Amino acid sequence: MADKDCIFCKIVAGKIPSGKVYEDDLAFAFRDISPQAPTHILIVPKEHRARLTDFGEKDAALLGHLLKVINIIAAQEKLEQFRVVINCGEDAGQTVWHLHVHLLAGRAFGWPPG
Ligand code: AMP
Repeated sequence: MADKDCIFCKIVAGKIPSGKVYEDDLAFAFRDISPQAPTHILIVPKEHRARLTDFGEKDAALLGHLLKVINIIAAQEKLEQFRVVINCGEDAGQTVWHLHVHLLAGRAFGWPPG
């Protein structure tokens, strides 16, 4: 179910424009508005969930689907090396409260992350 105040629910619904790169029944992906790498794409479930810890056992297939979508987009964008990030909670850097997976590529990344 969508959250009327959620910016990513509005993007999924087409109420806010986005650089869409992929869509299916369960997932939607679009380019990050403030890219941190030459390729920076966000993959979200269409159904609103604020954060990773809101997903329970019954959601395992949906989480798996989001990872499958990453591989589809990587093939579409011809990415062979990339980083995948989920920020869960403020200390982790989460700023938008609709679960999203960051797909970053096109440069070398350091470790540990900042
Ligand atoms: P996080 O800090 O993990 O919550 O990531 C939120 C991401 O959403 C940031 O990388 C933002 O640049 C991105 N973002 C926020 N608003 C938009 C928008 N309207 N369209 C695309 N990306 C957005």
